[in-house]
Amino acid sequence: MALNLQDKTHILMDCDGVVWRGNQAISGAKEALDNLETLGYKLGFVTNNSSLSRRGFFEKFITLGFHAEEYSIINSGYGAAVYLQENRFTKVFMIGEKGLQEELESLDLSVTETYHQDLQAVCIGWDRKLTWSKLADAMWVILNNDGQFVGTNPDNSFPSVDRLVPGAGAGIAALANACGKDPDIIIGKPNPYLLNLSLKEMNCSDSTKAVFIGDRLSTDIQAGIRAKIDTILVQTGISDYHLKKTILPTCTLESLAQIDQLI
Ligand SMILES: [Mg+2]
Repeated sequence: MALNLQDKTHILMDCDGVVWRGNQAISGAKEALDNLETLGYKLGFVTNNSSLSRRGFFEKFITLGFHAEEYSIINSGYGAAVYLQENRFTKVFMIGEKGLQEELESLDLSVTETYHQDLQAVCIGWDRKLTWSKLADAMWVILNNDGQFVGTNPDNSFPSVDRLVPGAGAGIAALANACGKDPDIIIGKPNPYLLNLSLKEMNCSDSTKAVFIGDRLSTDIQAGIRAKIDTILVQTGISDYHLKKTILPTCTLESLAQIDQLI
């Protein structure tokens, strides 16, 4: 376990399975984060979840009792909005929920859920009201308008309270299948896009000064490796341990509460 946080300035982490599970904070997480902040570390949160906006996540932190005032928070909905803006797409067909719409509109993108010939892109995230007709309209934007196909996050399933439910990746796969075309980009981890965006927004120009903490090897740890950031795997979420011989975190902890062992 050759990782010493004294060499680091920025500590980035996933949310689900690292700081909370569902609507419950993970035991010891709040104290660990308060301690890191007192020691002067900058804290960033990078989640694939697009159902809430960044503001929604901030409110969730506060509701659960975290001192979130200085946190930097990035999610895949915001990342998708930044990507669309960077690439000058302004008229977007959206499949998603309110949180995604808020993020797209926060960057002045024109968002609709009805097909139109002017639409330049499809942005698809987690949508618990996904229908055949939404998929049919999105398909036509991609095939007829030659629209850019942007997915928020690839997670095929999502841990609900008592069972696994389809995640954003399930809808993206259905649309890709219908179109016979892969998405142009899926913003969420394992793509390093969100981690790089987070470092940029936190003014961290040297990725070796950062560490990323996650609970999934195939998304979190893989994204950290691709972004050239040291990684810590915690075992408080849904872990895909069968991948542990091929995707290697820099170190492993039982939970965020043990992070003081690295200082
Ligand atoms: Mg997670």
